[in-house]
Amino acid sequence: MSSVAENLLKINRQIRAACSRAGRDAAGVSLIGVTKTVPVNRIREGIEAGIKILGENYVQEALHKTQALSDLAVSWHFIGHLQSNKAKVALEAFACIQTLDRESLARELNRAALKAGKRIPVLIQVNTGYEESKSGLAPEALFPFFERVSSLEGLETRGLMALPPYCDDPEEVRPHFSQLRELLDRLRDRTPRPEMLSELSMGMSHDFETAIEEGATMIRIGTALFGTRITS
Ligand SMILES: *Cc1c(COP(=O)(O)O)cnc(C)c1O
Repeated sequence: MSSVAENLLKINRQIRAACSRAGRDAAGVSLIGVTKTVPVNRIREGIEAGIKILGENYVQEALHKTQALSDLAVSWHFIGHLQSNKAKVALEAFACIQTLDRESLARELNRAALKAGKRIPVLIQVNTGYEESKSGLAPEALFPFFERVSSLEGLETRGLMALPPYCDDPEEVRPHFSQLRELLDRLRDRTPRPEMLSELSMGMSHDFETAIEEGATMIRIGTALFGTRITS
């Protein structure tokens, strides 16, 4: 298995190349290292190689890892399905919840945030592929949902996140990425502070270059960075 540092170098080269094709500044793309099932020592290697943001799908797993890595400066984003009863713990452990997908969760996060006297940055998850197996709002449900969560003082909606259908050919995923960007543009037209609404979290190991060409500001990379996941 190649080292995380080597993988990171390669990914950073690919990010710069995709940005240059799209006429974008590479500083506008944040790499999120996805750590599900990745052992702590390998995550540590990644942080020491320069990864600044990590993404976790499971609250319990993240708590264990944040504790084990608390000596290092890194922030954690939540990217899994969040149960409402974990809202308070998630608020404490994560700098951003990328998977806001329903009103009951928005209310629980809001309540926990107000109680803690802070605002939690969130992304709204959109199910661009209308896949039953995936969380996220249907695209047409996004605008009314955004209106409702905008009034919650404890939440700070920063943008959108999507987990489009898996396709071997990234070109087949491109329409999903461009759709998410269009949805964000339309949301920005409807808010008095569009500068606050700028994040597009989309693209994974096999399709992040396409996502960058379509405007991704956060790419979530697991396998290409840490190696093949061990699943039991
Ligand atoms: C696992 C996961 C990723 C990373 O997937 P890779 O293909 O390993 O890069 C990204 N986003 C979410 C939400 C995930 O669950």
